Amino acid sequence: MTLINKGTAYWQSLDRAHHWHPFTDTKGLNQAGARVMTKGEGVYLWDSEGNKILDGMSGLWCVALGYGNEELIEAATQQMRDLAFYNTFFKTTHPPAAELAQKIAEVTPEGLNRIFFSSSGSEANDTVVRMVRHFWVLEGKPEKNWIIGRKNGYHGSTLVGASLGGMGPMHAQGGPMLANVAHINQPYWYGDDSGLTEDDFGIVRARELEAKILELGADKVAAFIAEPIQGAGGVIIPPATYWPEIQRICQKYDVLIIADEVICGFGRTGQWFGSHTLGIQPDLMPMAKGLSSGYLPLSAVAVGDRVANTLIEKGGEFYHGYTYSGHPVSAAVALAAIRIMQRDRIVDRVRDDIGPYFQQQLRTLADHPLVGRIDGIGLIAGIALVENKTPKTFFKDGDAVGLACRDHCFNNGLIMRAVGSRMVLAPPLIISRAEVDELVAKVRHCFDLTA
Ligand code: PLP
Repeated sequence: MTLINKGTAYWQSLDRAHHWHPFTDTKGLNQAGARVMTKGEGVYLWDSEGNKILDGMSGLWCVALGYGNEELIEAATQQMRDLAFYNTFFKTTHPPAAELAQKIAEVTPEGLNRIFFSSSGSEANDTVVRMVRHFWVLEGKPEKNWIIGRKNGYHGSTLVGASLGGMGPMHAQGGPMLANVAHINQPYWYGDDSGLTEDDFGIVRARELEAKILELGADKVAAFIAEPIQGAGGVIIPPATYWPEIQRICQKYDVLIIADEVICGFGRTGQWFGSHTLGIQPDLMPMAKGLSSGYLPLSAVAVGDRVANTLIEKGGEFYHGYTYSGHPVSAAVALAAIRIMQRDRIVDRVRDDIGPYFQQQLRTLADHPLVGRIDGIGLIAGIALVENKTPKTFFKDGDAVGLACRDHCFNNGLIMRAVGSRMVLAPPLIISRAEVDELVAKVRHCFDLTA
């Protein structure tokens, strides 16, 4: 379909009247009107006013292969012609689901060999909770049903996803949250003033997990869920000591590790999964976003052999699934996306070339008066904005500063997200060096406008 340009005001008026946006103050939005996006190509978007915008966020951390990829379009079109839909319930499968499950098992860490499909990251996390709780029942430990997550962690916005996550405003709405979920602090060293070294801080924060397990009772704790690198919480890269200590604690108390790879998965950190980059050995891995490069909704849970064997051998029917589990068109697109990534060695490129270049160029911003610290690896980064560098002083109204900076970006041809006063970037994995240069120059300009 060729878009007929009816004009920004037309779409905004429909939007204002009927469209209820997620994570949006609709009353506030209605005064200003939503920005209308109409086209994407490579790392760029265009709005209905013809403005060209460099997408420093890959949509919502998902458009890994950039916009307008003909091979993905072709994969979807062909699959729609062949078989637009069939379910994977009741003893049926189809080639895209079967082949994609094999392909995912090929790229996940060793020992994760069973793949359960759904459509969103939130659904994948609902699936994970049902799996781990049922696993412990089948192991004869039905009381082992608590799940520990982290403050400021994000695991989706269904009731289960919001409960696992540690976002205060989400807990405040639509409660009560899911029972038997607890949270520990996040490992954000720069945001802390305890005076500990980064390494010691990593150990201290990891040991909060041990304290929580002992408080609840090890025989009551089913699993720990965390993002390898916290994304929506502001791209928090934990100290190097953190994950090895978490791993040790989980092993000691037989607590399953759920590594939520919805953002970190599929090359973002320079390896296939954040678990590879951070040395995590997860028992279950929810994934979404980069899996289908955001072209169609698709998510999955990769399940480790221990959990899968028990559930499959002892569990009988698993009373769980979604109409669109393994949707053939989404699966065909994801299969094509992984094949492109393998053929074009995209993960290697993020690890060895464009990721290091992006990180190095971003660090040229360290001299800017607003920049307190830059964290990042591969093609994901978080920049802490501060009022004062020494002594380090955070803005009292960090949210307002972050939002002002985000709006300057938006009005100057760059999408960069604000999480409080942390500015966050995750550009498409296909970004070129010249586009990285353009992105960094735009960031500097927008910091100047914010300062
Ligand atoms: N898990 C993580 C780590 C996420 O970042 C997100 C979304 O940003 C989700 C889960 C939820 O995914 P979805 O929005 O597809 O439900």
